[in-house]
Amino acid sequence: MTTTATLEKPPETMTARAQAILARLPSVRGRLTPDAPLGPSTWFQVGGVADVLFKPADEADLADFLRATPHDIPVTVIGVASNLIIRDGGIRGVVIRLGREFATIARDPNDPDLLHAGAAALDGTVAKIAQREGMAGLEFYSGIPGTIGGAFRTNAGCYGTETKDVLVRATAYDRNGTRHDVTPQQLGFTYRHCSAPEDWIFTHAIFRTTPDAPDAIAARMAEIAAKREASQPIREKTSGSTFANPDRDHPNTGSAWQAVDKAGCRGLMIGGAQMSEKHCNFMINTGTATAADLEALGEEVRRRVRETQGIELRWEIKRLGDA
Ligand SMILES: Cc1cc2nc3c(=O)[nH]c(=O)nc-3n(C[C@H](O)[C@H](O)[C@H](O)COP(=O)(O)OP(=O)(O)OC[C@H]3O[C@@H](n4cnc5c(N)ncnc54)[C@H](O)[C@@H]3O)c2cc1C
Repeated sequence: MTTTATLEKPPETMTARAQAILARLPSVRGRLTPDAPLGPSTWFQVGGVADVLFKPADEADLADFLRATPHDIPVTVIGVASNLIIRDGGIRGVVIRLGREFATIARDPNDPDLLHAGAAALDGTVAKIAQREGMAGLEFYSGIPGTIGGAFRTNAGCYGTETKDVLVRATAYDRNGTRHDVTPQQLGFTYRHCSAPEDWIFTHAIFRTTPDAPDAIAARMAEIAAKREASQPIREKTSGSTFANPDRDHPNTGSAWQAVDKAGCRGLMIGGAQMSEKHCNFMINTGTATAADLEALGEEVRRRVRETQGIELRWEIKRLGDA
């Protein structure tokens, strides 16, 4: 038996693929949605449907689901899709999105310098609460529009601080529903990369902070906001930096935006996708882009950069699903 929420949708209105998957899923306390459109909730506003979307009720519901779901059904976790192109054909199997049950943020009852955050908490909210509590060190999260779960997978960071620098412990569940409590060292963080097994779903983080006056923290956050406003197209349909900076992988090759600019790709368009005029390492959906346009534009930029400068740009944006 599945949840009431699922059964509200009559089976005849579902695709055969969603029906076949639902029939093999265990009973859950959270919500299962067949043929769930994903595009409207991504930053790029593109992408197809998830065969089934699962929002677990809590950690136990998530673990039970992972344990009981047959292994030939693919499971993919997403956050708020601020670093994603979801392809137009959608994502096969089950997509998991953690909801507000996983978004609590609280100071540790025993150590006043530790802040706990659920993986669905928004980075910006974590920064704001830490600021109000006089807990410094998480200001960099104020300008990153993703979730803490997404921040783990990408080792999100900016202006000199990365997730690995502030993390004390993380909790994740693997595809068998087994819980892992790990340190940042065990997660093998490097620049915009985490070596945790691909099937791990992060649920919880503990961050180390240092005491400071809320006003001083707020001033640093305002500086970050002003820098971003001046240099990035933050009000567009975008997913942040398209490519990782090659100088972090291969010294002396410069920043990704410099390579993109030098290849003449600032403002380059394919369909409705464009390399931003304001920050040429940001790709934007000008209104009519498909996921295919965005991916084709990224590949064209990579080709031009390779041909003009011999640099192999690495996608920072993750791409998921079927074309
Ligand atoms: C305007 C703008 C500015 C940005 N600036 C920055 C910046 O300065 N620095 C920076 O690092 N990034 C930046 N980004 C990119 C993005 O916000 C970050 O990468 C963010 O951490 C992604 O989080 P998300 O919740 O959106 O993850 P998603 O985009 O939904 O997913 C990204 C990856 O994380 C995985 N994932 C998501 N949740 C979990 C989970 N709970 N457990 C395991 N894996 C998970 C997904 O499977 C996927 O592989 C920017 C994006 C935008 C739109």
